[in-house]
Amino acid sequence: MEEASKNRVRTRADSRCEYCKVYQDCYPDFTFHIEHIIARQHGGDSSPDNLALSCHLCNAKKGPNLAGLDPDTGELKPLFHPRKESWSGRFAMQEDGVLYGLTSIGRTTVCVLGMNSIMRVAIRHELRQLGRWS
Ligand SMILES: [Zn+2]
Repeated sequence: MEEASKNRVRTRADSRCEYCKVYQDCYPDFTFHIEHIIARQHGGDSSPDNLALSCHLCNAKKGPNLAGLDPDTGELKPLFHPRKESWSGRFAMQEDGVLYGLTSIGRTTVCVLGMNSIMRVAIRHELRQLGRWS
């Protein structure tokens, strides 16, 4: 993938993970990944509509997954698609930094991507305290 394409994805995402919404500068030792929303092994291409900026933690948990089990219902649900869905329509954050799903897709994505690990919750809480969460 060309560097210009990667830079367009980073700019479009405002240098935030498009899943957990943490900023790249919160993890200075890691470079966020340009992630294929539909993994190449499932036929996904490298067009802009199939690319998202993902932190190393979300990317590692998501891998090639396209779906997961809703923790409330046990039903198989697709994961959040950053190009086709609104983040604020699927997720919300408590004041303490914990994310929760507003829908089945949101709950499933929070669970599969491990979005509420202790460190990630602490970072989001700090972003809120600093007025950087929007
Ligand atoms: Zn993330």
